[in-house]
Amino acid sequence: MISNGGTYIMTVTVESYRISDTVSRFLSRPRQLLINGRWVDAASGKTFEVVNPATGETVGRVAEGEREDIERAVRAAREAFEDSPWTKMTPSERGRLLWRLADLLEQNLDEFAELETIDNGKPISVARFADVPLAVDLFRYMAGWATKIEGNTIPISVPYAPGAEFLSYTLREPVGVVGQIIPWNFPLLMAAWKLGPALATGCTVVLKPAEQTPLSALRLGELILEAGYPDGVVNIVTGFGETAGAALASHPDVDKVAFTGSTEVGKLIVKAAGESNLKKVTLELGGKSPNIVLKDADLDLAIPGAANAIFFNHGQCCCAGSRLYIHKQIFDDVIDGVAKYAQKIRVGHGLDPKTQMGPLVSHDQLTRVCEYLQSGLSEGAKAVAGGKRIGDTGYFVEPTVLVNTRHDMKVVQEEIFGPVVTAMPFEDPEEITPVANDTVYGLAAAVWTRDISKGHRLARRLKAGSVWVNCYNIFDAALPFGGYKQSGWGREMGHAALDLYTEVKAVTVQL
Ligand code: NAP
Ligand code: MG
Repeated sequence: MISNGGTYIMTVTVESYRISDTVSRFLSRPRQLLINGRWVDAASGKTFEVVNPATGETVGRVAEGEREDIERAVRAAREAFEDSPWTKMTPSERGRLLWRLADLLEQNLDEFAELETIDNGKPISVARFADVPLAVDLFRYMAGWATKIEGNTIPISVPYAPGAEFLSYTLREPVGVVGQIIPWNFPLLMAAWKLGPALATGCTVVLKPAEQTPLSALRLGELILEAGYPDGVVNIVTGFGETAGAALASHPDVDKVAFTGSTEVGKLIVKAAGESNLKKVTLELGGKSPNIVLKDADLDLAIPGAANAIFFNHGQCCCAGSRLYIHKQIFDDVIDGVAKYAQKIRVGHGLDPKTQMGPLVSHDQLTRVCEYLQSGLSEGAKAVAGGKRIGDTGYFVEPTVLVNTRHDMKVVQEEIFGPVVTAMPFEDPEEITPVANDTVYGLAAAVWTRDISKGHRLARRLKAGSVWVNCYNIFDAALPFGGYKQSGWGREMGHAALDLYTEVKAVTVQL
């Protein structure tokens, strides 16, 4: 038990929870790279360690892929794209393969949940009920699209060819070899968001998982082989962003790069794409999402809703509701409710089934979040819950609610990516929209109100790729997700994602 400045008590028991035999076996030897259907060491022979953020202990090692490994992987993906059993597969066969991958993932749900918890720190209950089932569902959703990627027939007029007859139609063809670079906050799910549309449309892939969380992607690679994907269709190169990631983004033979991560690195990806071969780029980047509680909101919904909006996944969500705007008349009640909620969250080792919030993903992330807390408090913000690190083992931070915040504070402007919400009162609902929109980001936003017309009206005015009314963090494989402004380019999930993995070819035949 750790006492928090006398305000409340939190239970953090960082014991060594028993890892299952299946996962122990997986971790017992360094995991290799998946290139051209085979597991291979990095060309350099180097490996790096995988750390459990709940304990800071090394739990395994993975190959450290670099430029040369990316070269090999891109070559394999190119061959598989140009001339392989993959290119001859029917859409129906592609769909069945994706469905089979979903089945295999579902059959191994517990193992994946455990790997995700050990690697990322998240509570096993969350990995079991959210991360893995959402990934399964995404693959099934995309499996259905494989047979429905259609072009159009287009009547044309051609004013300079009077009397001539033409038949024009469009084909949607896979964009080619795709480099996919993903972050650590939902390691398996981010891999699924990326792989699903690429495999439904017939692309081939080189996937680079985040250095902090390579395990579930590597295990997924085993299932990809078991499902029967031809060699080279999916290649997985673990390694660091500055080496493996940068080599992929700047590779002249990669047709598209799909990136999820920070806005800062997103800009590097665009630069690398521009300076190499102008490959297509899609980006899912950071956010600083406003969560607006109107005077007439149902507080029984809005209080836990506002707490979950920021504390889910320890605030390590690109769409976290990190700026809370509350009508002046209910400000104290909502803050009191959210603070009490924060203080009751059971923080601990993710493998403890009772844990509701685990550690942050890494020591770097812990330092970053604590620096933001320090910055907010020194600029005059007040923590009505939390405000500091918990203990000195693992990377735990208290769920934190900051009041007395101002719009120009760093903690209000910048993405913290931790369990820290800044709250501010407002008076006129008309005035809150420009404040909510006054950010470089535009990923998500939410409104809490009993007046549904007001909810719809605000939804139109908020500049964000997702707007939730009387709910938060509702995701579905069928719903497009992505950002306005510096939160990204393009959309993931839904049929919107498929457009970004295909090229449109216009064919015209003179009759
Ligand atoms: P990050 O540092 O941008 O890393 C993301 C990925 O890019 C990692 O695989 C990283 O490799 C790689 N990378 C780093 N530098 C690179 C470079 N120069 N060239 C190519 N690749 C490079 O982001 P993060 O801190 O891991 O993740 C958190 C961020 O992701 C937050 O900003 C969050 O909002 C965003 N995010 C957005 C969404 C969305 O859908 N919009 C979803 C989840 C997360 P390493 O392995 O070395 O880190
Ligand atoms: Mg990183």
